Amino acid sequence: MPDAIPLTDAQLAHLEAALRRQRESLDAELRRMTGSLADVREARSDASADDEHDPEGPTLSSEWSRIAGVTDGLARSSAEVDAALERLAAGTYGACIRCGQPIGFERLDALPSAALCITCARLV
Ligand SMILES: [Zn+2]
Repeated sequence: MPDAIPLTDAQLAHLEAALRRQRESLDAELRRMTGSLADVREARSDASADDEHDPEGPTLSSEWSRIAGVTDGLARSSAEVDAALERLAAGTYGACIRCGQPIGFERLDALPSAALCITCARLV
């Protein structure tokens, strides 16, 4: 573990609280979207049961894709937050996972789940 992580205990506590808040709101949003997916699935099976050429069909499909897209994005963000919390627990939080340099408090404050320093983030 790099021993030069320039984050104070207060900064770490602040970032950890931000990550936990983010984790909670992502979970709530994911639950909400999962509920919407179930609604669309239900509506879609009703529609095809009534009429195979139901005009609602394409609308439901695009709604499905939209929700699935949002859910994917939320799942990705959620995985990033989890990974950041794991780095916090391991004591490597705040160091770039690519080059090992400090990510910096300002960047972490703006994006607590950031895994890369600004230099590496620009390269990918
Ligand atoms: Zn880096």
